[in-house]
Amino acid sequence: MTSLTVSAPYGTAAPALADTTTAKVRTASAGESVLTLDKEPTTLTELRREAQKAYKSIEDANRALVARQKKFGTVEKALAAKLESLQQATAELNKMRKPLSDLASSMYQDPSLDGLSPFFRAGNGTETLRRIADLDHIVAGRNNVLGDAVKLLERQQRLAEEAQELRAASLLQEAQLSAQVAALRKRSSSLVRSLTKALIKLGVKISSKGAGGCDPTRIGQAEQYPNGLLPQTILCPLPQAGEELRADAAIAFADLNIAYKKRFGTSMCISDSYRSLSEQQSIYYRRPGFAATPGKSNHGLGLAVDLCGGVQNFRSVQFNWLEANSKRYGWIHPDWSYHSPFEPWHWEYDPQLGAKL
Ligand SMILES: [Zn+2]
Repeated sequence: MTSLTVSAPYGTAAPALADTTTAKVRTASAGESVLTLDKEPTTLTELRREAQKAYKSIEDANRALVARQKKFGTVEKALAAKLESLQQATAELNKMRKPLSDLASSMYQDPSLDGLSPFFRAGNGTETLRRIADLDHIVAGRNNVLGDAVKLLERQQRLAEEAQELRAASLLQEAQLSAQVAALRKRSSSLVRSLTKALIKLGVKISSKGAGGCDPTRIGQAEQYPNGLLPQTILCPLPQAGEELRADAAIAFADLNIAYKKRFGTSMCISDSYRSLSEQQSIYYRRPGFAATPGKSNHGLGLAVDLCGGVQNFRSVQFNWLEANSKRYGWIHPDWSYHSPFEPWHWEYDPQLGAKL
């Protein structure tokens, strides 16, 4: 029996940091997971099953990564809030410096408040009492201001300490996030290598963009191949140079393209069509947590295109025309692409629909 072995549950090991100021990421050796096929699959069906298992583990790893990103976002937000409070406390303290220095000058520089002389200088008892009352008032005021200043200073100190702790936590999260992305990338690359090797052993030539081949009679076998690893014989080039799709989708697309050209006077504009597993990976790692997990995208099945030339703008003339006409050619704008994620440019060939035409 063939099995994929994945060492260590994903993301269990966090990289240690030397200190909080230099966030050097040590690729966590325990968190590194290497994907290997113990024994090469002997049939395509076996290979597809193994590939699906492997994709699943990558998907789990991705989920852990997204959770980590979320946590990182929370820490960063808390840090920003703390720093703002700290700034406010500092500003309040600065405002208080003026009354503090005013008090100092009134206590020590006003000649009329110089020591006890004013009390003896006063002409009568009432004047003396008034001066003593003034002095009491000033002393009380000074004590209040000083008390407030001490409280603010303490608050500022506490906030600074908390901000520093959060900063350290944030750096740690960031480092762990980088390590996790690196491990995920490594694991995914090793998956592509293992699967490609197994396919070649089975005598399947893997497609690369722009290659010929294109044997529409072999479409029936397309489902046997793992996502992103379709053989050249199943893929056909599109009228748009350098683009290719699974043979049935490619043929239907060529028809749709003729109708489009009749309406708009120009061929459809394609920004992406079939995506090999390694291409899916490179997109995935540019935006971790956003693009479809490698091995999951319909682009990897040769059944999806991303369009430009106006279609990419929701409710443009081109988009509306395609929405109204594509089904007649087996092409649809999937339900999910209307909202999550919103991808007006993404269109798919539906083999079941296409088979009925
Ligand atoms: Zn797409």
